[in-house]
Amino acid sequence: MSAQWIDGKKISGEIREEIKQEVARLKERGIRPGLAVVLVGDDPASQVYVRNKARTCEELGFYSEVHRLPAETSQAELLELVARLNGQDNVHGILVQLPLPKHIEEKAVIDAIAVEKDVDGFHPVSVGNMVIGDDALLPCTPAGVIELLKRSGLSAAGKHAVVIGRSNIVGKPVSLLLQREHATVTMCHSRTPNLPELARQADIIVAAVGVPKLVKADWVKPGAVVIDVGVNRLPDGKLCGDVDFDEVAKVAGWITPVPGGVGPMTITMLMKNTLKAALAKADQA
Ligand code: NAP
Repeated sequence: MSAQWIDGKKISGEIREEIKQEVARLKERGIRPGLAVVLVGDDPASQVYVRNKARTCEELGFYSEVHRLPAETSQAELLELVARLNGQDNVHGILVQLPLPKHIEEKAVIDAIAVEKDVDGFHPVSVGNMVIGDDALLPCTPAGVIELLKRSGLSAAGKHAVVIGRSNIVGKPVSLLLQREHATVTMCHSRTPNLPELARQADIIVAAVGVPKLVKADWVKPGAVVIDVGVNRLPDGKLCGDVDFDEVAKVAGWITPVPGGVGPMTITMLMKNTLKAALAKADQA
């Protein structure tokens, strides 16, 4: 038996259609969701991410502005720009592309973004609201994982989820969101001694590690759902996830491919957050 693929491209496309419809409705009220993206320096991967975000804004009818700042920009200059964007009415979401150059303290910049415009969901207040279950702009990749499950008809309620990885941007928030969906969650990391054994007990495995093909077929319970967040570049230039896809697909019930699984969801959830921020502001007015 072979696992069913969870098609992130298709699901992401469906959500984008829904967003477009909502944008059209907002247009009638004279509102256009707006996203400001800030890039400091010339990291090639970041440049690609920023370009894709701007392109997606255009595709969905959002207003967007991209601020490309030189690598030597000071922290004070960056904070000044963030303060300006915080006060700008046509900008509902602010994304400062990470990583920042070493002389800039990332935390100071994230903390400076107005919580209601924190579409990355990294501000400590957004994180706190997520932890206590209040309304919050959720971090995009973890929110994308939950959306993939829901839209594939895979309920997490009462299931045992094993999350491998505990980073602030993926592992920790995805664990919290799965718990919110009523899963029983085991969080694993590099010091977890019996990882294969724990993984074998899972109904849902989420791998967010950054180690190519770490999760093997004999780590997976037959029929389990396997969500692969990992994006790793192999020596031959090909992309692969944290899951040994070809082998695991023979055992799992459902699996996300890399590329084409979690990846396409991240920008889509960013757009959804920006739309949500715009709607919240419109409802306040
Ligand atoms: P990260 O900050 O490096 O965190 C990796 C986590 O994996 C850490 O908690 C680490 O444990 C754990 N880990 C490392 N080696 C391990 C091992 N051998 N066994 C068990 N746990 C291990 O990475 P991240 O930012 O969360 O990203 C994880 C992966 O997701 C990367 O491949 C990244 O490229 C990808 N990613 C994809 C998207 C997307 O949009 N698709 C978005 C973000 C990230 P310790 O805490 O003990 O060090």
